[in-house]
Amino acid sequence: MQREQIQFDMLFVGAGPAGLAGAIRAAQKAEEKGMAPEIGLIEKGAEIGAHALSGAVLNPKALAELIPDYKERGCPIESTVRGDGFYYLMKNRAVKVPVVPEHMHNKGFYVVSLSKFTRWLGRIAEEMGINIFPGFAGKEILYGPDGKSVIGVRTDDKGLDKEGNPKPNFEPGIDIMAGVTILGEGARGSLTREVVQRLGLDKGRLPQVYETGIKEVIQLPEENFFKKSRENDIHTLGYPLGLDTPGGGFIYEMADNRISIGLLIGLSYEDPMIDLYDEFLRFKSHPFVAKIIEGGKVIESGARTVATGGEYTLPALAAEGLMLIGGGAGMQNPPALKGVHLSMKSGMLAAEVAVDAVDKGDFSERRLRSYRDSFEKSWAKPEIHEGRNFAQALARKGPAKFFHLGLQYVTKGRGLIDPLPLEADFLTLKPVKGIPEPSERPETDGTLFVDKLTGVYLSKTQHREDQPGHLIVHDRHICVTRCYDLYKSPCTRFCPGQVYEMEIDEQSKERKLKLNPSNCLHCKTCEIKDPFENITWTCPEGGEGPGYTVV
Ligand code: SF4
Repeated sequence: MQREQIQFDMLFVGAGPAGLAGAIRAAQKAEEKGMAPEIGLIEKGAEIGAHALSGAVLNPKALAELIPDYKERGCPIESTVRGDGFYYLMKNRAVKVPVVPEHMHNKGFYVVSLSKFTRWLGRIAEEMGINIFPGFAGKEILYGPDGKSVIGVRTDDKGLDKEGNPKPNFEPGIDIMAGVTILGEGARGSLTREVVQRLGLDKGRLPQVYETGIKEVIQLPEENFFKKSRENDIHTLGYPLGLDTPGGGFIYEMADNRISIGLLIGLSYEDPMIDLYDEFLRFKSHPFVAKIIEGGKVIESGARTVATGGEYTLPALAAEGLMLIGGGAGMQNPPALKGVHLSMKSGMLAAEVAVDAVDKGDFSERRLRSYRDSFEKSWAKPEIHEGRNFAQALARKGPAKFFHLGLQYVTKGRGLIDPLPLEADFLTLKPVKGIPEPSERPETDGTLFVDKLTGVYLSKTQHREDQPGHLIVHDRHICVTRCYDLYKSPCTRFCPGQVYEMEIDEQSKERKLKLNPSNCLHCKTCEIKDPFENITWTCPEGGEGPGYTVV
């Protein structure tokens, strides 16, 4: 098939904070050097910000380096953190932790809507002449004749039917060729996963682990908790997850009497009967949280995974013609629950190396590896280094969790053993013993407590039904036999979009897995947590998926 080819000097994949900060920094540095490289940026969302979801407290360190006059240029800040609150939730009460851990001191930082923030960065990038293509999903990496050097990205074919045949409106994907391709797809990006595997970039590293965050924006009444509270940045541990399931909740004050509320659940959890969305509803109904959100209405909802493994899980950050940035490369400070500033910094560091590479016409691994060197010398490194064993400590069971977490703070991340071992998330489920008790589902009211499908609706997720399925279940026989027998179909519970349903076939009376891919929130939890690694998430047609505007 004849495909159009476009040539860029450097191509950023993904218009998240990493890709946008990188593209802007590349344009700045090129100008400093009197160069005018062609910089491209593709984004799978219908527009910049459509897929950007995060309960983001922004440490402005990287932003201030990139755009020192960000306030004058209209950076959309929702609120400034005036006080941090850290609580341990028991079933019916909350205990205030007297000392907020140092990493979670956010006073003076900003609460931002990542969707609005990335739209703002996108406008600046456009003004600087960067070629931005929203609605274009990177479908595959293009390799040179040696099969190892990255030479660009092929975008998705548009207008295929369910069987993969071209419809009358078919448009073949474009081959975007680039001297250097910089992947900033976010946690568990599909191209990043493929290239890391193919080139062995994670050799000798610990496996990456993830947390899934389910999140909402709630419109509160005029008179609300935050009007009288010094704390507008609240974090919780404990209920409903208890001490055996890693994770915690957060509530951040936004502008216009809105809040961003979410629950992060470590995917190293063991109990296959846990329903992530139900846990989020339970968190919201805890008396401490219910009082804060009283009288509110959910106006946007979504889900997303975050890579929380820390330093020992970072892959090699560069290969021939390739650099990895942002959440997809594991840029996250797990104890601080913050990664936007690290993602931006990684993009900026990679961009500086990319401009030098264009200048010299040298895209070899040897040259691009200097991105790793500059990362090691930057302020980002000590932050990531201190969180190197945090995911392991958080995953400890029972009261030992507090001992290990405390030790993390005292020893600046070293703990008792350094590195502490880490297990991939798909390995941690324990088989269900006997017939599980049917658990009581949390109540919903359609306004403040909404069910999964209403949550999907409020994420403004859209997919064309008549297209090849983007969720590949490799062996459906496993689903109805081993996976059902051992774990009682955990996909029906870990997916926050109700994409997976187990039903009985009317004719054969046998179990069968039903998929509703059009509900998919692109969180990637299924690919990460499926205990048989039986699910692969691929990009649907560019421009589809969630349509976040506020979150
Ligand atoms: Fe997330 Fe997978 Fe469900 Fe989509 S199908 S919402 S990626 S768990």
